[in-house]
Amino acid sequence: MNKAGVFIKKFAKKKDILIASLILISAFILAIIFWFSPFEGQLYACIYIDGEFIESIPLQEELLQEEIKTQYGTNVLMILDNKVYIKESDCTYQQCVNSGSISRPAQAIVCAPHSLVITIEDAESVGRHR
Ligand SMILES: [Zn+2]
Repeated sequence: MNKAGVFIKKFAKKKDILIASLILISAFILAIIFWFSPFEGQLYACIYIDGEFIESIPLQEELLQEEIKTQYGTNVLMILDNKVYIKESDCTYQQCVNSGSISRPAQAIVCAPHSLVITIEDAESVGRHR
């Protein structure tokens, strides 16, 4: 191998490293943008009874307790630390209470005996209910 060959090889290696670091840096920047994007702050807990949209509550509420009374029974909904959960229910199997908290879009809590569904939705999705 002549000197020129060695030079080209080294140059190519440096270029690879440069491209790799550029990809890493842009991935890192994208991750930061997603992390701080306002999307996180615009989530709502949406309450459905019998498949019908009832109301939306912003997840930013520090602490909120709400009784959902229907002909089927009562559920106590809690919002704490950007998470939603069912604190109490007079339903048979307590599945909704045991299913724990939700905080991300497309997650849901279902209380089948009370025909109650609580979902997490973003502002755009909530806007479609109005
Ligand atoms: Zn239940």
